[in-house]
Amino acid sequence: MENMFDTICAIATPLSAGSIGIIRISGEKSFEIIEKIFSRKIKPEMINHGWIIDNKTGQKLDEVIVLPFKNPKSFTGEDVIEIQTHGSPVIIREILNLVLENGAKLAQRGEFTKRAFLNHKMDLSQAEAVLDLINAKTSKSASLAANNLSGTLKNEINNIREDLIEILAKITASLDFPEDVKEVEYPEILSVLEKSQTKIKKILQNARCHNILREGIQIAIAGCPNVGKSSLFNALLNIQRAIVTDIAGTTRDTISETIDIDGISATLTDTAGIREGDIDKVEKIGVENSKSVIDNSDIILCLFDGTKGLQSEDTEVFELSETSKKRLYIETKQDATGKSQSQEALNMGDSPKNPIIISSKTMYGIENLKKAIFNEILGSNVEDSGFLTNQRHQESLKKALSHIEMAQSAAQQEELQDLISIDIKSALISLGEISGEVVNDEVLDHIFDSFCIGK
Ligand code: GDP
Repeated sequence: MENMFDTICAIATPLSAGSIGIIRISGEKSFEIIEKIFSRKIKPEMINHGWIIDNKTGQKLDEVIVLPFKNPKSFTGEDVIEIQTHGSPVIIREILNLVLENGAKLAQRGEFTKRAFLNHKMDLSQAEAVLDLINAKTSKSASLAANNLSGTLKNEINNIREDLIEILAKITASLDFPEDVKEVEYPEILSVLEKSQTKIKKILQNARCHNILREGIQIAIAGCPNVGKSSLFNALLNIQRAIVTDIAGTTRDTISETIDIDGISATLTDTAGIREGDIDKVEKIGVENSKSVIDNSDIILCLFDGTKGLQSEDTEVFELSETSKKRLYIETKQDATGKSQSQEALNMGDSPKNPIIISSKTMYGIENLKKAIFNEILGSNVEDSGFLTNQRHQESLKKALSHIEMAQSAAQQEELQDLISIDIKSALISLGEISGEVVNDEVLDHIFDSFCIGK
């Protein structure tokens, strides 16, 4: 494979003290550069052990392992060198500078992955999966991103494209050679279009679920002072993070932690107890923060103290949030009330009269609560599609769907097949945006700008 660009380099590991640091070089000068600064002759496809030596001063910088990859058998599809150094930020920087002095350029964000895409080592959905994998917040989203990287989304889109390409080829052949090839029957066109429509709709149905799995959700724990918010926060986290006391107003500021609820990354925020009236200045700021946390959350856990029952103050606090917000009502301190949750309780937590009953002390009902949060956010019938889509894919799928639907309506009215073919071509272009077959530089820059340098 031809090397198309300058030789780039970057630090591929976090720049902090650690056991190993990695510097990556990619491009046609990679081998030439390493030969100048390595103590031994590089053996391709082998693990090379030796020293990095400053070729100006002769000073030994570090004892390293060099991994050489000859194009096209590398991540970028170019000649690639990986230098594994000891994990000292000072050494890593010095070696990077040496590589720069010897002819490489500093890589831009995502440039290694961009080259892998441009050199056809992966399609755009796989390149995006690299970023999703790095940023995955739960093991579920990591495993879906890994599926994308292995090509599951790419294959799904290619299947849809293949059907459309086949029917388009038949239509085009009959239009170009009307004497030799007979016109495609309209029912045949309609059946292909319907098949593609169904597949795209199915992917789009999971779009909300994919967005939640990729981005996570915000959960606010709200309620009057002393109802047990901090205790629930700790119970969900299973650690003693928030301070629990029986003095009203202890949680003065908001505290956040992230937990994994069945694959959803949920950022849990323990709000300050909201009470008006005789409160100090610091506590007032905490209360203001709580209101903004509640406004920005996807779901609010509305707590009231089971030993006291629902009070008018509880309802006032719950009503601070917009009615459109998803809420779950939770009755706390079950160990003191002895109440039990009827297992068949439908739509648990949907009203203060039908609360989820919990005890943070004994963990009673905590698993129920997690299930209720999951169901409230995603619904109980989540289908595992085996891949993830992002908003860019979803926009392209929506465009493709609308072209397919236009083609369907034209085919139903038995319009000229010339016109139908135009819509099928447009649908193919929209689908091609997902794999990156049809994509402009602006979109590429936007995608790779969100990567880190060195990836
Ligand atoms: P917050 O002000 O709403 O955050 O309430 P805390 O979590 O600080 O709890 C207030 C008081 O209620 C503390 O004395 C807790 O020990 C007590 N408490 C919280 N949860 C439970 C529970 O599940 N059972 C019992 N018996 N007491 C609880």
